[in-house]
Amino acid sequence: MKKGIHPNYKKAKVVCTTCGNEFETGSVKEEIRVDTCSNCHPFYTGKQQHAQATGRVERFRRRYGIKNQNNND
Ligand SMILES: [Zn+2]
Repeated sequence: MKKGIHPNYKKAKVVCTTCGNEFETGSVKEEIRVDTCSNCHPFYTGKQQHAQATGRVERFRRRYGIKNQNNND
């Protein structure tokens, strides 16, 4: 590799601020803080819940026991 033009690529410690998980990756930084990681992100944990509908229409439907017949709306 040509000298002087490449960034100082080194091992970096990634710290997840949500679950405290730490892992290593390569970066020019020494430490990277992330909000979510593969340890706690719902996509990987499989614990994702469907978004709770909290709108007025949804509340109305719930109150009168009207089921949402059209899933596309
Ligand atoms: Zn995490």
